[in-house]
Amino acid sequence: MSRISERIEQVKDNIAAACDKAGRAVSDVRIIVVTKSADIEDVKEVIGLGFTELGESRVQHLKTIAAQIDEFLLNKKQPQGSATKINWHMIGHLQRNKIRQALELAGMIQTVDTLRLAEGLNKAATETGQTAKVLMQVNCSKEEQKYGVSVGAAIHLAEQIADMPNVKLCGLMTMAELTKDESVIRAAFERAKELFEDIKRERIGGEDFVHLSMGMSNDYQIAVEEGATMLRIGSAIFA
Ligand SMILES: *Cc1c(COP(=O)(O)O)cnc(C)c1O
Repeated sequence: MSRISERIEQVKDNIAAACDKAGRAVSDVRIIVVTKSADIEDVKEVIGLGFTELGESRVQHLKTIAAQIDEFLLNKKQPQGSATKINWHMIGHLQRNKIRQALELAGMIQTVDTLRLAEGLNKAATETGQTAKVLMQVNCSKEEQKYGVSVGAAIHLAEQIADMPNVKLCGLMTMAELTKDESVIRAAFERAKELFEDIKRERIGGEDFVHLSMGMSNDYQIAVEEGATMLRIGSAIFA
């Protein structure tokens, strides 16, 4: 087994154990493979192992790597009918002047945290005849974070986003702070889950509102225990 596949097996085992502990089904947790610091050959290997949901944090890098991967998939001999299509997730802060590019390249934008950004996405999506699938990024940790709407303002912003005709609010995204203190991380994920359930209960976003994206290489087991449906994992696979 290669180093990459060994690491993936390890991650999968850990996710299965966390699901077991929380009484959840493994099929309810999706891995977004974060490629921002990965070698291109390693990314190709991961795709070969069947992963199609990939994440990038910068539009410029997303553009480069998506083109390389498209070419790789085009040239790869594939059994008939098994064409692989990558679904890219934009997981980094999105500047408004990159909205069009992001929309063109990414199937989901996980970092919508202001009305202005959502409005920009709605406008660009309308003009290109698309629907932008987004997650709303929430700051659920007690510390000041650069990005993410505050928990207190989240429901109102969710309502505004959900009302936009060409934006589909598909769930929430959050990041815990970088700490070794498990209780601090767990508390942030608990707040995100609570907010997620509140928004669902009020039917904001409707049927589309299903995803809770939280958990990275250093905290994904905790995220699974607290209800994550999407994990964004990079270094645990590639480092
Ligand atoms: C880089 C990044 C990740 C992945 O982090 P790892 O620690 O490498 O797993 C997840 N989410 C966001 C928003 C990131 O920027």
